[in-house]
Amino acid sequence: MRRAVVIDRDGTISEEVGYINHPSRFRVFPYAAAAIKHLNEAGWLAIVVTNQAGVARGYFSEDMIQTVHAEMTKELEIGGAKLDAVYYCAHHPSVGEPPYRFDCDCRKPKPGLIARAARDFNIDLGASWMVGDRYSDVELARNAGVQSMFVLSGYGRGEWEHQRANWIEQPDLVAEDLREAVQAIVAK
Ligand SMILES: [Mg+2]
Ligand SMILES: [Zn+2]
Repeated sequence: MRRAVVIDRDGTISEEVGYINHPSRFRVFPYAAAAIKHLNEAGWLAIVVTNQAGVARGYFSEDMIQTVHAEMTKELEIGGAKLDAVYYCAHHPSVGEPPYRFDCDCRKPKPGLIARAARDFNIDLGASWMVGDRYSDVELARNAGVQSMFVLSGYGRGEWEHQRANWIEQPDLVAEDLREAVQAIVAK
């Protein structure tokens, strides 16, 4: 079985700018490639999981997600980094039209995307991590049975300073950003 670092996209790998309805809005953080390369070299799987309910909401088509992910993959490859897989949920339980209006099992913090990755890659979930900038990523980690790393990039700092008092779950570790998160995980 293999260990994985499962990584949120918006606010963790790339700048949080709201819905990415065009590739021109997508900006990978300057440290993201080096961080993911570090995972590659240390033998960890690097897997992205992201909610993209803008599809269900009718803001953009599913093709836009593919286009943005091709751009992300290309930019990371330029920096010497490889993602093992990218999984997304384009659903919303109560907005839009079928098939995207759907009470799925993959919309974070439900664990469907990580469960799918675990089957595809034979992942040891208990030895793996979820890294993200929202409390829902901490909930996702608990639901999926992986350890949680909260990052202060994206929405992270604001959620940490203003909402943490209401959190039922606490993250296992907190890091400034994906770079620090990966350093901490690889060093453990
Ligand atoms: Mg995020
Ligand atoms: Zn879904």
